Amino acid sequence: MESIGLMDLTLQQMEEWVLQQGMPKFRAKQIAEWLFQKGVASFDHMTNLPLDLRKKLQLIAYLEDLQVLKKQVSEQTGTVKYLFKLKDGQAVETVLMKHSYGLSVCVSTQVGCRMSCKFCASTLSGLVRNLTAGEIYAQVLSVQKEHVTRISHIVIMGSGEPLDNYDHTITFMTNINAPYGLNIGYRHITLSTCGLVPEILALAEKKLPLTLAVSLHAPNDRLRDSILPINKKYPLRELLKACRDYTKMTGRRVSFEYALIDGFNDMTECAKELADMLKKLFCHINLIPVNPVPERGLLRTPPQRVQRFKDILEKEGLTVTVRREMGTDIDAACGQLRQRVLDWQKEVFKGEKN
Ligand code: SAH
Repeated sequence: MESIGLMDLTLQQMEEWVLQQGMPKFRAKQIAEWLFQKGVASFDHMTNLPLDLRKKLQLIAYLEDLQVLKKQVSEQTGTVKYLFKLKDGQAVETVLMKHSYGLSVCVSTQVGCRMSCKFCASTLSGLVRNLTAGEIYAQVLSVQKEHVTRISHIVIMGSGEPLDNYDHTITFMTNINAPYGLNIGYRHITLSTCGLVPEILALAEKKLPLTLAVSLHAPNDRLRDSILPINKKYPLRELLKACRDYTKMTGRRVSFEYALIDGFNDMTECAKELADMLKKLFCHINLIPVNPVPERGLLRTPPQRVQRFKDILEKEGLTVTVRREMGTDIDAACGQLRQRVLDWQKEVFKGEKN
């Protein structure tokens, strides 16, 4: 019999599973609290379960306990980047950010990514695999274990496209939001997508009060096609319609991300075109001076021009912020996450030889 990953289940699914295993239903809640709230590393620690049940669980089920391969702290901002090892030897990055309003964790949803956005490092080697709901959840627990302050916010903006791993991402959010989990409100969860229209609409149907962030990065299809291949499948007209529907269904304002790339999408005409396109939408625009990905040779817009771009949008009545940089010095900023396992192994090896 194949072993089951209990952290890939919601409480409801776990209740069905415990009944199938001949256990009373209430065991599911006890197990869920150990897994999702207390974050135990072994079934042995589930002290309110009878010993024989703990032994049985060990044989038929598993939990996620990520191993820290590497940890880097930004001297500028206190941002911490973790590289975690998964069961199959793959690795995944997670970032902790410290804000005035609390701690937020940026989780990855896939090892690699298949969206091929031209400015993003996570996609350089394509998609390796989806993460399971348990592996996404365990990233948050592993970070929480290292900090006394409660993690209050989640951003689903690490490597991978969350809506390309839809079911696991939904299960993850269900569990992190639940009282048996870390009880993080949907209003404190941001999910970022490059624009998978059918999944945006499916998410809208769920009417969750989370913040949907859409990676826009261009004011027209011609430019967007050239840097986000997904735009050929779901062009701006369809994407923006999905965003309007999203707001209609959830009442939530959509947040658009716009990475400013020198000489590509940062000209005055681009700002005007963007303003025209978004004027009638209930939205917020987040400008991000593009982060360096050396392989791509893209340069960032200098600060004065970022300000000018912002001014134009604001004059048109749009709400705009410029993203504060949290971890450029440790390659933990947007678009810089990639598996650096090989680099890391080389470093360790070098260290051993010396
Ligand atoms: N796949 C999702 C989430 C991961 S990327 C998405 O596309 O939204 C998180 C954010 O970082 C996205 O807005 C993405 O477009 C942005 N990003 C990627 N590479 C970047 C870079 N080099 N500089 C700035 N932002 C970048």
